[in-house]
Amino acid sequence: MVSQVQGVVALAKGEPVSLVTIVVPDPGPGEAVVRIQACGVCHTDLHYRDGGISDDFPFFLGHEAAGVVEKVGPDVTLVQPGDFVVLNWRAVCGECRSCRRGRPWYCFATHNASQKMTLIDGTPLSAALGIGAFAEKTLVAAGQCTKVDPRARPEAVGLLGCGVMAGLGAAMRTGEVGVGDSVAVFGCGGVGCAAIAGARLAGATTIIAIDLDPRKLDWAREIGATDVVNASNEDVVAAVRRLTGGHGADVCIEAVGNPKVMEQAFYARDLAGTLVQVGVPTPEMRIDLPMIDFFGRGGQLKPSWYGDCLPSRDFPMLIDLYLQGRLELDRFVTERIDLGDVQEAFHRMERGEVLRSVVVM
Ligand SMILES: [Zn+2]
Ligand SMILES: [Zn+2]
Repeated sequence: MVSQVQGVVALAKGEPVSLVTIVVPDPGPGEAVVRIQACGVCHTDLHYRDGGISDDFPFFLGHEAAGVVEKVGPDVTLVQPGDFVVLNWRAVCGECRSCRRGRPWYCFATHNASQKMTLIDGTPLSAALGIGAFAEKTLVAAGQCTKVDPRARPEAVGLLGCGVMAGLGAAMRTGEVGVGDSVAVFGCGGVGCAAIAGARLAGATTIIAIDLDPRKLDWAREIGATDVVNASNEDVVAAVRRLTGGHGADVCIEAVGNPKVMEQAFYARDLAGTLVQVGVPTPEMRIDLPMIDFFGRGGQLKPSWYGDCLPSRDFPMLIDLYLQGRLELDRFVTERIDLGDVQEAFHRMERGEVLRSVVVM
């Protein structure tokens, strides 16, 4: 039996989002229906609404979610009804050339539910990142459900489903931050602040937060930055060098998606340092670096897909750390809102007023 629920949809490019009735089919083979408890508002939802990702309107928004599995398809053994899960947007296939090489976090053939959710008139919806979770229920591939400790607060741990995981993973997985490292994080929104939390968790001793907005630098400090640099009134590269004994940081994390910021992060590294790119660029952006500097400075330049996370490995581990009080995910939840408040939450996000607004059902 199909379900009809209220969900937040972007019907046309750039227009305000609407709360409409959505038809959620029963789960087929390999699928699960999840009753959503909380879902964070992410920049990617805004990019979908504004046509920055594709033109496949209407989009069913929301993808940083936690909830309880309600029904599973006939062959599903990974999760069962009643399981508390965090949704991920990279259900690994286990069979592609990367999975077969033992590197499933790079999986080249991640998948989503095969059936489509629709509007009441049958129009198929494009689910944001293959999820669509600003609704009471959603249909996903069973592999997109990662079972975690049910004692965790849904509004905090749902954020691991996207931005917070991307930032934590940029530091802990892609950047391989270790004990005693110096780390500089460029851009202190949700992803950048999570990179700061990840660097702290991994044992970095110097964590430099860089942003143009004093409010974001305050959040960064609360989350674990040891130093802050306001890029609107300081030479960023010189400031990072000054704070790292004149050398530059071991790991620089670009969490904006901007060529100028990437160039700063490139030069703010120590020799043989690592540059991690986790901010998502737009198609027209270009980088232009002297090749002699690329070669001569050594080290690594690494893009970070979803923090190079493996949800089945990383979500339960991070939630254990959260429950032990070592990872303060609650700090990322600036406000709890209702389903009908997503459009207004986009405005607050654009104005930089929130780390995360989270819809709570
Ligand atoms: Zn694969
Ligand atoms: Zn996201």
